[in-house]
Amino acid sequence: MMYKFRCQNCSEYNRLKGSFTDRRELAETKGEPFRIVCSVCGRKTEVKANSVTATETRFLGLIFPLVFVPAILLGYYLFTNFIERNSIYLKLIAIGFALKIPAIIYSALSKSERDKVRNFNRYKL
Ligand SMILES: [Zn+2]
Repeated sequence: MMYKFRCQNCSEYNRLKGSFTDRRELAETKGEPFRIVCSVCGRKTEVKANSVTATETRFLGLIFPLVFVPAILLGYYLFTNFIERNSIYLKLIAIGFALKIPAIIYSALSKSERDKVRNFNRYKL
């Protein structure tokens, strides 16, 4: 999850570093309002907790193939080596699991990411 706000001087979006459950925690940690140097125009801008919004990170979409491809290779490896002499059903089950596990992990991670974003954006101060 990442946080963004608009600079009051140049109106460009900035990213805010840190980890906050909600706007209350953001205000308690950073102050309300807090001042920060804009990464675009380099001038100080005042930011209110209510003007900060959380968005999902693209990160998950990027790591997914990195998990998925090895899982397919693992499934293929199991298929061709370990269970060669066993029934076709066992092979299918092994491949099914190899494909399913990263899918389960991914959906769990993206759901918790979505929940965190929703939780942050839900309440204003
Ligand atoms: Zn700016």
